Amino acid sequence: MALKFFNTLSRSVEEFVPRDPQGRSAGLYCCGPTVHDFAHIGNFRTFVFADLARRYLEFKGFSVRHVMNITDVEDKIIQRVRENQTPLRDYTAKYEAAFFQDFQALNCLRPHETPRASEHIADIISLIEKLAARGLAYRAADGSVYFSIEKYQGCGGHYGRLLKLNFEEMRPGQRVSSDEYAKEAAADFALWKARVPEDGAVFWPSPWGEGRPGWHIECSAMSMKSLGPSFDLHLGGEDLIFPHHEDEIAQSEGAGAQAAGEPFVKYWLHGAHLLVEGKKMSKSLGNYFTLRDLLAKGFTGREVRYLLLTAHYRESFNFTLEGLQGARAALARIDECLGKLAEIAAGSEEAPSTADVLQSFTTAMDEDFNVAAAWGAIFEWVRETNRQLAENRIMPAPAATLMTAWQKINQVLGLPPKQENAPEDLVRLLIEREIARKAKDFKRSDAIRDELKAKGWAIEDTPKGSRLKRL
Ligand SMILES: [Zn+2]
Repeated sequence: MALKFFNTLSRSVEEFVPRDPQGRSAGLYCCGPTVHDFAHIGNFRTFVFADLARRYLEFKGFSVRHVMNITDVEDKIIQRVRENQTPLRDYTAKYEAAFFQDFQALNCLRPHETPRASEHIADIISLIEKLAARGLAYRAADGSVYFSIEKYQGCGGHYGRLLKLNFEEMRPGQRVSSDEYAKEAAADFALWKARVPEDGAVFWPSPWGEGRPGWHIECSAMSMKSLGPSFDLHLGGEDLIFPHHEDEIAQSEGAGAQAAGEPFVKYWLHGAHLLVEGKKMSKSLGNYFTLRDLLAKGFTGREVRYLLLTAHYRESFNFTLEGLQGARAALARIDECLGKLAEIAAGSEEAPSTADVLQSFTTAMDEDFNVAAAWGAIFEWVRETNRQLAENRIMPAPAATLMTAWQKINQVLGLPPKQENAPEDLVRLLIEREIARKAKDFKRSDAIRDELKAKGWAIEDTPKGSRLKRL
């Protein structure tokens, strides 16, 4: 069956047909982090969604080229660099490294390319030059270069592809802040910002004088450099639809690099925002979480990933600590079932993955990445498997088939293996208990069991010996 998803461009669910005439390869760009601070859990909802989309496209047999930029030149970063009196790269390197640590803790696949804006200034300048040559960019009295929406519309461009806009509200004269004063029209946006004293050492030479790029042009330049002037998929959070993505389309198509009739991006996918504990995240409300905050509370990246993947990407989702406890319980149910299947399957041949659950999973995911229906199918399968396990009705070969099916499903869900190895000192206690039991010292054996229980571990006696299991 074909994969379908909601394209913001057409505001409808469309079948995914890659631009590749062979129908195999797909280019995917997702707006990456602005490395001015630790990324919060709302940011990571978008990145986990992009990871899911990539993994599912790969599961469907597409060869995906995944690009995610690093925004390392931007107003907030420049402000922090000034406050901290540190070179730009020193400042951003710290948060970029932290971002990738978190990214890995959430088991997101590393994109094939992660270009930094600061390393693509030449590409950005050359894109602005193309816009200037076509009369779509102008230098204002403040020395900055702006994109003229009027000129763009005048030569056939359509500004407002992703979002219906009310241009009456964007007329000149309704300038809302002083830095917009130099523009010809309030809706025009900066391509190149002239150097001001507050920028400190963050500036580059350009044909329009020293300065730095605007945020929107960074993504146009880097995405087209990596994936070509036209590519298949552009993802991001819904808060980026306007103005960021609208501006990306205007700049990229305005530069005219695409072949006749080809769009900059064929499919735009946007993830909904995240509420935390029922409210918009804010430091003052105490519901502002980075991944690090959650790990410090004893949760794992695996649990956070699971919770972020329980809701459909287009629905706003309420992320709570209680939800994370629920995620822990749900994962334990899956792990227990898989653990038993693995034991039964041990030693059997490599098995085909013909299980029904794989079919129901695929059917659900084909419909606009319907994870809610996919999890429904998975938990139905866990229930049924548990029932059959309780009746000892699953033989090694079918168990191996089910395990293979799960492994395929998990290539998409990307749940990292459970970290269930008990600490070494507890494993030593477990061995001591075995020795006590063999010596019929039941008093000692019971005392060890109680001690382990107090530390949060239960002893499970299996035909293959005892093992420790988290309570
Ligand atoms: Zn972007």
